This record gives sequence, C-alpha cells and structure tokens, in this order.
Amino acid sequence: MNILVINCGSSSLKFQVIDSATEALLAKGLCERIGIDGSVITYENIVKNSGKEVNETPMPDHNKAVSLVLEALTNEKTGVLKSLDEIGAVGHRIVHGGEKFTTSVVITDEVIEAIKEVSDLAPLHNPANLIGVDACKALMPNTPMVAVFDTAFHQTMPEKAYMYALPMDYYNKYKVRRYGFHGTSHSFVSKAMAEVAGKPYDSIKTIVCHLGNGASISAVCNGKCVDTSMGLTPLEGLIMGTRSGDIDPAIIEFIAGKENQTAAEVVSVLNKKSGVFALSNGKSSDFRDLEEGYVAGDKFCKLAIDAFCYRVAKYVGAYAAAMNGVDYIAFTAGIGENSGFVRANVMQYLGYLGIKLDEEANKGRGKVIKISTDDSTVQAYVIPTNEELAIARETAALC
Ligand code: AMP
Repeated sequence: MNILVINCGSSSLKFQVIDSATEALLAKGLCERIGIDGSVITYENIVKNSGKEVNETPMPDHNKAVSLVLEALTNEKTGVLKSLDEIGAVGHRIVHGGEKFTTSVVITDEVIEAIKEVSDLAPLHNPANLIGVDACKALMPNTPMVAVFDTAFHQTMPEKAYMYALPMDYYNKYKVRRYGFHGTSHSFVSKAMAEVAGKPYDSIKTIVCHLGNGASISAVCNGKCVDTSMGLTPLEGLIMGTRSGDIDPAIIEFIAGKENQTAAEVVSVLNKKSGVFALSNGKSSDFRDLEEGYVAGDKFCKLAIDAFCYRVAKYVGAYAAAMNGVDYIAFTAGIGENSGFVRANVMQYLGYLGIKLDEEANKGRGKVIKISTDDSTVQAYVIPTNEELAIARETAALC
C-alpha cells in the first residue's frame, strides 16, 4: 500500500510517499512559506530519479499546499502515481497527544476533537498539524488517515520520571508533567538498535541520543521508554541549536526584571536565541559551522560544542543509573548521524562504562556503524533515524 506521510507545520508541509510493502521511498517534497509571499514547493520523484523540481507558486493556505502536493504526485509527466486512488492511507505527524494517546490511532471526528483538547500543551504545533489533517480530509474524504504522536512512545514512563515536584494542582488541573518528544524517532531507533544487535527488543537497555537541531535523549529499558529529557515542552533537557535546555527556572524572572521583558519574551529567547547559537556568541546553530570554528581555534565555538557534549554525557550517566546499566548507546539525527567530532567528544566521558571509541569506524556517517571497539562492555552505534518510515509503518499497521 502507498502511504502519504504528512508533517505539517504552521507555514510548511513536508511530505513523502512510501510503499509500505517494500518500504521504498517513491517521492518526497516540501511546501514552504505557506500563507506568506514567495511560497515554494519542492518535489522529487525518487522512482524516476528526476532530481528536485522547485516551483514558486502562491499558497495562501494549507488546502492549496495539499492540493499542489496531490497535483505533483499525480502529474502526467513527473508524478509518481497515476491517480489519488493509489494512495491507500495518509499518516500525519501530530506533535502532542497529551496523556490521551499512548499509541497511533485512526483519525475520526472524535480523535480530532481529542487532539484539539490537548492543543494548549502545544499551541504552535497541534493546530498546524490539524490543518494538514483537515486539508487532506477535504481533498481525499474516503482515504483513511492515521495520527502518529511525537509523545506516544514516552507514555510508558513511570510516575517518578514524569512528575515534576510542583503543587499537585498543576498536574490535576493543567496536566503539567513530562511528556517528551521525538518519540517516533526514539521508538524507531531503539527498535533498529535491537535488530542490528540481533537481540530481542524486550531484553536490552538502550540510550538513544537524538542529536539534531532539536535534541533529546531517552532511556529505553526492555522495549519501554522509562525516561526522556524533553518535558512539558521541547525546551527541557539537552542544549540544542537555539534552545537552552535545562536552566535554573529562576533565571526567567531575573532576566525579565533586568531587561524589562515579560516571561513569554524571556521564554522566547530560551527557545529561539539560546543553545549552541548563544554559546558560540551568535556564530551559528549549525554544527558544521561550529566544528569549523572549533578547529580554527574559535573559543566560543569550542565552548558551544564542549558544553553540548558535556550535557549529553551527563544525561547518558543519569540514564545508565535509571536503568541500572546500559547495553547500547545509539547516536541519531543530523548531528548524531553525521558528526564523528561530536560523538568522539561525548564518548570521551564514557570510559567508566567500559566503552572505547573505534576511531576509524567513527569517521563514517549517515549509516549503521558500530563506533565502539569489540572489547567494549557497552556498545555504541550510529543508527540513522527515519521518522517518515516509522509513520508509514504505523499507518499501514492500522489501515
Ligand atoms: P536535524 O534536526 O536532525 O535535521 O539535524 C540538523 C542539524 O544536523 C544541522 O543543524 C547541523 O547542526 C547538523 N548536521 C547536519 N549535517 C552535519 C554534518 N555533516 N556535520 C555536523 N553536523 C551536521
């Protein structure tokens, strides 16, 4: 069955068509600047190996974007499908499922209502995700759709890991707790880790380091997530591209007073102007630039990368303790898959776990690689993530 995977943001829409039987990627693309001047659709027919087609065309709303995607997919010359009937189901990435959704679900009117109910937990993401659902429903009313939640995989965390030490009312009234994000990736990578290791999923302890522009880490014990670094929102935990990760929460009031800002303004700085971008003194949030600066002797680039890696290593230690040991450490996402420099920096802290870096293997990137030596007692791997394929698998399983 062909699955259309949709990841809809407030002004962008990423899409892929995946054949669920062979797991082959057939086509992919991206609509950018939806609702803004200068909208662009990028489309690539992978089957024909046709290269990227980029078209600037007005997209006043998401309905128009979805209709352009469907047109591109069925276009006589460049399309990968003969007609929309060849799409068996649509899988939608939905950021926040609250406590309601512990697994992926077929989208019904009740599900849409339930997603709306938890939208105050992700006010920037869930409404945008639902616009994509509505647009597909309008144009393909008879095609089944599935919601795949970023939070669902982490719902197995025990209370002691997800409760904040705050007045119980905040949880009872507003559901303030740790939810965690990137769940689709943590689930995909921890399962892939078990496959690569040739061990049953429910018999190993894995720490997944999802290191991308957004970064999070999770402890997966015997097939269940038992802790993860992101919290009520994706701001908590690791240092990220522009997000601070963990800080003393009192800093918010302190800076608000000093800079005459509201709490919301300070939190916006924590989300958009902090992280390695801030530590590098505004040089970049992209690790390619930071590595270049580090090697050239820029002290701020060095600080940014060293602080980022130190934070990852601290979480690895915490999660090894949480699981009373660890068997595998999996590095994934843009930085985890591509930067041997960052992996080596993190691994220098992990000798006490019995991990030794295989320097030669660590030069590789973007594929499954064992980067620890054979005599290491804990093994470290690069395991590429594939959130779209994970969404396609979940969708096919339910349709
Ligand atoms: P993601 O959010 O998973 O797409 O990751 C994006 C980030 O990965 C970029 O902002 C870069 O910081 C990082 N990245 C991508 N390619 C490389 C590379 N070759 N070396 C170092 N970092 C990379």
